[in-house]
Amino acid sequence: MSTANTASTGLHLLPEQDGSIQALAGEVPAVSVKGLVKFYGANKAVDGIDLVVKQGELLALLGPNGAGKTTTLEIIEGLKKSDAGTVELFGLPHKKARRLIGVQLQEGATYSELTCAECIQLFASLYGCQTDPGLLLDWVGLGELAKRRTDQLSGGQKRRFSIALALCNDPRLIILDEPTTGLDPHSRRDTWELIRLLHKQGRSILLTTHYIEEAEVLADRVVIVDQGRVVAQGSPIELINELGSEVTVSLTAPEEAALKDLPGVTAATFSGGRWYLRCSNPGEVVGELTLRLGSQGLKELSVNGPSLEDVFLVQTGHHIGDDDENNSGNRR
Ligand code: ATP
Repeated sequence: MSTANTASTGLHLLPEQDGSIQALAGEVPAVSVKGLVKFYGANKAVDGIDLVVKQGELLALLGPNGAGKTTTLEIIEGLKKSDAGTVELFGLPHKKARRLIGVQLQEGATYSELTCAECIQLFASLYGCQTDPGLLLDWVGLGELAKRRTDQLSGGQKRRFSIALALCNDPRLIILDEPTTGLDPHSRRDTWELIRLLHKQGRSILLTTHYIEEAEVLADRVVIVDQGRVVAQGSPIELINELGSEVTVSLTAPEEAALKDLPGVTAATFSGGRWYLRCSNPGEVVGELTLRLGSQGLKELSVNGPSLEDVFLVQTGHHIGDDDENNSGNRR
C-alpha cells in the first residue's frame, strides 16, 4: 500500500465546475438527512433517521447486519427513493451534487472485460473528469495491476479498486459502505490508512461499518443505528464518557447461571456463551460471583473499562456480533 500524501498523489479538491460553489461556502453540511423512512413491503428498514455529516468530518454509521445502514446510504446516494424524509448534499439535492460525491458500493459494480486502468478511465469520463489511472491505482496500492482485468482481482484488491473508482471524480464527499468487510487484518489496516489519508485531505467521509474498532479508530463521530433508528451519536470518547465510571465484568458461564440479579450488577447480558455484567464495583461483583459459582466457576473472567462496545450494548441491549437478519427480525 502506498503511503503517499496529498502532494504526491495528485489527488486534490477540484474547483467547482457546476456553479454550486456558493452552496459549499460557509457551514453547510456535506450531508443533511432528516426524517428518513424506507419500507420494503411491511418491513420498516429505515425508521426516521436524522443525521448530519459536517464538511471535513468522518462519520461512521455503526450497526449490526440488517440495521438499515446500506438502505440509508443508497437513499443518500440517490440510488433508492425514500418513503419519507429529505436528503441534502452540500445544501443541494442529489442531482446537483452528483459531481461532488464518490461512492464505494458494498458490491462494487465494474465491467469485467475491462482492465483496471480502462475501467477508471471510463468512470472518470462518465463524470466528465480527466484522471491518471496509473496514479490513482498506485495510490490505492494497485499500481502493478493497471493492466489486470477487473474480474481477476482478489477480494481485497477488489475492495481497494472500488475505492479508486470512488475517487475518479476527486470527490469532496466519499461514501463507503462497509469498506473492510471480509478483509484480513492486514488489508483492513491498509484500508484504514487510505481512509485516514482521504480524511486528512479535507474530504468529508460517510462510512458504514459493523466493526466497533473501525468506528472507534477512524471516526470523528459515530452514529449508532439499530433496527432502522439512530440510538446514539457523538464522538467515540463522548459516547464512552456518557457511560460514567461503570466497568464490565465478563466471564464464561452457562446461561442458567442467571446472573442478572447478582448484587452490585446494574445490567447483565448473555452472549456467545459469556455473561457481561455492568457494575461500578467489580471487586464486590467478583466476590458475589465466587459465592454463587465457586472459584472453579470463574472461567476466563475479565474486567474492562468502558468502551464503544459497552455503549452499543447499553444503547441496544445486545452485542453487535449477536445480530443477523433473524435476530434483528426477532427484536422488532
Ligand atoms: P448489512 O450490514 O448486512 O449490509 P444493513 O445495516 O446495511 O445490513 P440493510 O441492507 O439496509 O441493512 O437492510 C435493512 C433491512 O431491509 C433488512 O431487514 C434487509 O433484509 C431489508 N432489505 C434490504 N434491502 C432490501 C430489498 N431490496 N428488498 C427487501 N428488503 C430489503
